[in-house]
Amino acid sequence: MVKIAKQHDRVKYFKCEVCLKNIAIEYYFTVGDSIVCNDCNTEYVLHSKNPLELVRQEPDYSKLEYDDSY
Ligand SMILES: [Zn+2]
Repeated sequence: MVKIAKQHDRVKYFKCEVCLKNIAIEYYFTVGDSIVCNDCNTEYVLHSKNPLELVRQEPDYSKLEYDDSY
């Protein structure tokens, strides 16, 4: 008998903090890789694979100029 490889074990899922969709974390991703949510384009950086830990990258608002006129 041929054992069916549990391919799904090689992919983990991380729930996007913004749109709550599952982002597939492929086995070939390594710590430090950036992963972008397909649905909302939020960028995460993989901090740990076991346990799965992703840290959301905040957009660099310091580059934006705020209008404080009122
Ligand atoms: Zn998302």
